[in-house]
This record gives sequence, C-alpha cells and structure tokens, in this order.
Amino acid sequence: MSELPAHVAAALRRLPPPACAYLYDTAALRRQADHLRSALPPRTSFLYAVKANGHPAVVHTLATACDGLEVASGGELDLAVRAGARRIAFGGPAKTDAELAAAVRAGALLNVESRHELDRLAGLGLHADICLRINRSTVGVTGSHAMTGTPTPFGIDEHQLPAVLGALPPGLSVIGFHLHAVSNNLDGAAHAAFLGDALDWSITTALAYDLSLRVVNAGGGLGVDYTSTASIDLTPLSRVTVPDGVELILEPGRYLAADAGYYAAEVLDLKTTHGRTFAVLRGGTHHFRLPAAWGYSHPFTVLPVDAWDRPYPRPAVTDTPVDAVGELCTPRDVLSRGQHVSRLRAGDLLVFARAGAYGWDISHHDFLRHPPPDFVIL
Ligand SMILES: *Cc1c(COP(=O)(O)O)cnc(C)c1O
Repeated sequence: MSELPAHVAAALRRLPPPACAYLYDTAALRRQADHLRSALPPRTSFLYAVKANGHPAVVHTLATACDGLEVASGGELDLAVRAGARRIAFGGPAKTDAELAAAVRAGALLNVESRHELDRLAGLGLHADICLRINRSTVGVTGSHAMTGTPTPFGIDEHQLPAVLGALPPGLSVIGFHLHAVSNNLDGAAHAAFLGDALDWSITTALAYDLSLRVVNAGGGLGVDYTSTASIDLTPLSRVTVPDGVELILEPGRYLAADAGYYAAEVLDLKTTHGRTFAVLRGGTHHFRLPAAWGYSHPFTVLPVDAWDRPYPRPAVTDTPVDAVGELCTPRDVLSRGQHVSRLRAGDLLVFARAGAYGWDISHHDFLRHPPPDFVIL
C-alpha cells in the first residue's frame, strides 16, 4: 500500500458521491515513456500497445510520448489514426479484409500471422512491407502468459517458415520479424537475454533466407508486480546490442499505462459475517477485473472522507483485515482479500493504484447493469 500523490487524492475527493471512478494521469504516462526511452539501447523504438488501455486521452498522450502505437483491431487502428500516431504497427491473428486494407491505407506496418493472411493481402491487391510474426520453437523467457514455443493461435510456426517464404506473393516484402513472446516479465536480465536472442535469431534467419532485415519487433511484456511497488528493472536492457542497419521495436502496454491509472470506489457498506469483514464497494470486478482474472489481491489505499451527514450511525471498523468486494451478486466479485486497515468507514474511498493497464478495458461492464465509473483525466 503506497501513498497517493496529492493531486490524485485531491481529484478523487472532488468526485460526486457515491464515488466511483477511473483516474488517468497523463503527466505520469509521459514520465513513464521518458523513463523507458532513457533505458533503451541505440536503434530501439517503442510503440504503445493500445490494448492495455484504449481511452482516447491515454492513446493521445502516448501517441506523442512514444514513437508510435501498436494496434490489434480496426477499432484500435481508428483510435491510433485519430491520435495522430507517427507510426503504427498492426498485429493480431484475426484481421478482416477490411482491416487489412485500412491498415495498409493508414501506412501501418503489418505483423502478418499466417500464410493465409499473406494470400488475402495479395488477393486484395495490397502492396506492403511486412513483418512475419513467428512462433519460435523455443523461447528462453519467463512470464505469466507464454505465447511462443508452445501451441497458440499467434504467428507462424517456425518450421513452416521455408514454405511460407517460398510461396510469398508478389507485392509483399518481408523486412523483419515479430517475436512477441511473453507477458508481465519481471526479470530485467531475462528480458534483455530474450531481446538479444530475438536479434540473433532474426539475423541468422534473414541470412539463411536471403532477406534484408530491417526490423526486429520483440513485442511487449515488460512487467509490473501488482502486489508490491516493484516493476521490471530496465537497466539490463540498455546493454543489448542492436546491430547497425537493424531497428529493434518494443511494444509495451502494461509497463507504460499501469502506474498512471487509479480505480477508486466508495465503501457503501461494511459488515462482518462468520468472522470475516467485508467492505462493499460502489464498483467492483465489472470495472476492474484484473485481480479476479489473475487470482491475486490488488492492494488499496484508504482515502478517508470525514463528512457524514446521515442521522444514523456510520459503520466503521478499526485495526482489522477486510475483503474489498464489489456490487455484483456473485461471491467472485472480489478485488482484494484480507488487507489490514487501521480504520475504515462507510463513505471512505478505497483507491487501487496501478490500475491503468488491463483494468477497465478487460472488464465485463454490462454485467448487472450498474452505471459505469466516472473517468477523470489529469
Ligand atoms: C498484448 C500485446 C502487447 C503488449 O503486452 P504488454 O504485456 O502489455 O506489454 C504487445 N504486442 C502484442 C503483439 C501483444 O499482443
């Protein structure tokens, strides 16, 4: 549990009751992008992965703070174009014909995920420089969602590369590889090794198939530890050697957006049943699904609200563990279990920091039809 920045606390105190809001701090987004840029080796660019948080203010801020944006749907492509992104990469295993055409029109670099996708591009008469997304045979990196070296719908199996390159339709020119392989990696040295290995593999493979390699896209995966204040240590990344003539591209989502977002919800009720104390919130997993999806307790900070104008007693607890639960009629609507509070009252706010990535965007908003949270942009 960490201190809330004063300007964040002040903005949350201005919410109309019953308070429920996401707050995105655009200055924090820019600071994080600058911090990442300063840690990366020469000839490296980074594109913000829009799927982490597609709020237009977030996308707009990161379109300029980063080198560009990575998108994985027609909707994200539209957002990126409207945000004025200098560069766009378009990936994803299920692009429609209309999306492929729109991406080429927008000048996006396509990460092509299958041989059929190549045929469809050619069938549409599209000409483009492309990267091939490869599901490599082995990938020495750890993280919470392994995406390569294992059967997945993402990319082209490394063993099929000769056949795919042998049948490359005219008009399409392979300028590099896309090797996104991991999510939420907390080990900086391991991630640096992954980048080095991605570069080595790409150079060797390009030589073997007589391709002129310009781009190695290593995807996202820079990690954030939600149960502490730690994030991946970027220091080892600065020691990766990117050879002359090659551009290394990273596509971080979580690392850029997580710390700039806060989810705040007012305590509507406090009760103890069978020896456990529950803080029932105006909000829950339909707004902030990440802790339920990943099965961990997301730490919160209590923002005390002293005003109480009701004629009846104010529910309150002191010095006790509480479960922070939401307004949905299911026992799975839990954001955090057993966090100790020194004092908590109905009407106080619980504030969940590091909620700027995969928070609102991955949640099932319409379940039970409660009103959405407010969105506060600083
Ligand atoms: C999800 C995704 C990212 C972003 O991943 P993070 O773990 O948020 O950094 C980048 N590239 C691709 C292709 C993705 O699918």
